Amino acid sequence: MYFGSVRFFKNLILIAVVILIAVPTAFSFSFYFDIKEQKATIASLQEQLAEREKLAEMFTKNEEDLPYQSLYPDFYAPEGYHASLIKDDVIYLTFDDGPSANTDRILDVLKQEEVKATFFVTGRTNTTDLERMKRIVAEGHTIGMHSYSHNYTKIYSSVEAFLDDMYPIFMQIKETTGETPVIFRFPGGSINAYNGDIYQEIIAEMMRRGFVPWDWNISAQDATAKKVTSAQITANVTARAAKVNRGVVLMHDSAAKTATASAVKNIIRELKNKGFTLDKITPELKPIVFPYKD
Ligand SMILES: [Zn+2]
Repeated sequence: MYFGSVRFFKNLILIAVVILIAVPTAFSFSFYFDIKEQKATIASLQEQLAEREKLAEMFTKNEEDLPYQSLYPDFYAPEGYHASLIKDDVIYLTFDDGPSANTDRILDVLKQEEVKATFFVTGRTNTTDLERMKRIVAEGHTIGMHSYSHNYTKIYSSVEAFLDDMYPIFMQIKETTGETPVIFRFPGGSINAYNGDIYQEIIAEMMRRGFVPWDWNISAQDATAKKVTSAQITANVTARAAKVNRGVVLMHDSAAKTATASAVKNIIRELKNKGFTLDKITPELKPIVFPYKD
């Protein structure tokens, strides 16, 4: 009889020994592979962490290198705009340096002709001009920043100096009109005789804050030293407009520029006759800016 025999007990012991050896071995193997896997996971997490720390370090370093990034923490556009929309056959009339004694005349014409335009304004202390800023916004036009002082040597002496002068016009527009300006125009254009060394840095910093710079591709040439007539100003604009499919017209809104104010009506009519739509600049539009020199 097998059960109860010596051979049975021998085999029983053998099976018990095999189980006693095999089970812990199997466990330790699975444990070993688990640990290996965990080690790999930990290594990859550590790698990711190191990567993030490196990025964080780069960012902090950047701030240390560029201390102006921490200036004026409330000097930011309300949201990020892609500034990438292109509309063909549209021309944007822009008026720099206002408000002035001519602003109301220009606004009257725009109202009559049912056209929206863009005003890049500078800092003001008198209430009449502040009322004009309000009127620009109330009548549906775009108001943009053009610096507070318009003092070339002052604003282009450093990135900090530029921010020091842009922040007060940002605040003045906001407090006077209730509108937060997003677009801006450099006095003298984004690349000029005064900012050669730092214009790229200024553009980068302003764009980091969410603002959109706008130059022009049609100059009314109304800012020249010699007197220009309104007929000449109109001709300057229409001649250039014939060569573009989207255009930004640079004009000036200052007390001395009466010829410009007189030209606005004809400029609008001639551009409309050529098939252009006239509109105001808005933050989602791709800006027209001068090409970088290098
Ligand atoms: Zn200007």
